[in-house]
Amino acid sequence: MSTVSAYAATSATEPLTKTTIERRDPGPSDVAIDIKFAGICHSDIHTAKSEWGVPNYPLVVGHEIAGVVSAVGSEVTKYKVGDHVGVGCMVNSCGQCSSCKAGLENYCKRGATFTYNAVDRDGTITQGGYSQAIVVDENFVLRIPDSLPLDKAAPLLCAGITLFSPLRHWKASKDTRLAVIGLGGLGHMGVKLGAAMGAEVSVLSQSLKKMEDGLRLGAKHYYATSDRGTFKQLRSSFDLILNTVSANLKLDDYVSLLDVDGTLVELGIPEHPMQIGAFPLALARRSLSGSNIGGIPETQEMLDFCAEHDVTPEIEVIEADYVNEAYERVLASDVRYRFVIDISTL
Ligand code: NAP
Ligand code: ZN
Repeated sequence: MSTVSAYAATSATEPLTKTTIERRDPGPSDVAIDIKFAGICHSDIHTAKSEWGVPNYPLVVGHEIAGVVSAVGSEVTKYKVGDHVGVGCMVNSCGQCSSCKAGLENYCKRGATFTYNAVDRDGTITQGGYSQAIVVDENFVLRIPDSLPLDKAAPLLCAGITLFSPLRHWKASKDTRLAVIGLGGLGHMGVKLGAAMGAEVSVLSQSLKKMEDGLRLGAKHYYATSDRGTFKQLRSSFDLILNTVSANLKLDDYVSLLDVDGTLVELGIPEHPMQIGAFPLALARRSLSGSNIGGIPETQEMLDFCAEHDVTPEIEVIEADYVNEAYERVLASDVRYRFVIDISTL
């Protein structure tokens, strides 16, 4: 066991505070990682604030982890000391079910072991990336290509794969009229990845404040959803809509923007359930779906795609003691476009 510094949530209302946690010694198939950077995902905030149920406090969140291998177990074959690696939202899964066998560990039938607030194989509660080190089974470690700097690679491990996977599943291409709702951490990766796959990207944001950024990141069009005229103008005009908003939306309005046979994919996971009328779905054979991160093989494919196509997030690197302010800014939609904690400041 080793003791490492970390930032932990202790209740739904208290700020995160500095603490220490224990990491296990690497077992035969484990990789020990010195964490260099950790992204701040809105899921960290939902969890820390008990919006998805009360977690096991004190809890270290963070599932956008980039670092360097510091030790490997005796049976590890894929990684060696010094390699640049990442860890995303999962650290294990059953490995036996049809999802796991298909490389869809994110849809493990027995439930994947998530990077924080999950019961690990040894019965302890998993603790995430706002910490100096982590020990993970080699099958849940990703290789970060040399051309990707570690700070920019970190957000790809959640925000990147969460957008890459549905874009691939729904076959985004030059023939796809794609809309991304919300220009935050996830949304801006949707714009970049969608554009890299050739889609005609529109951003649906609350206001036009970030329009210049959206267009620079690869969007062709940018609309304000605070303007009711937007919904009239864009009726039936998209093939695929990716909703990345962390709060409830009036889904009827957005589903109506899909053309016949179009799909709206719910990626945001707000605290409260949302409603949808049957009419907007039925009237144009539209689909409502959802998607949760991506499997390990697809996450590696995404990292390699980002290296090849030079797709990286826009980040603001922060010192660890800025984390609570960063949370406030994310909640105020004032993130441009992902906060990344420099773990050397922890
Ligand atoms: P984020 O950086 O806070 O981005 C969310 C964006 O949604 C904001 O920047 C804002 O964009 C828009 N928004 C926020 N509040 C809104 C409101 N009340 N009405 C309309 N729009 C609003 O968050 P994130 O890290 O991208 O995460 C977004 C959501 O995805 C969270 O719920 C998170 O838990 C979830 N998530 C899901 C997965 C998955 O696998 N499915 C993975 C990671 C995260 P504008 O300012 O442009 O309007
Ligand atoms: Zn996340």
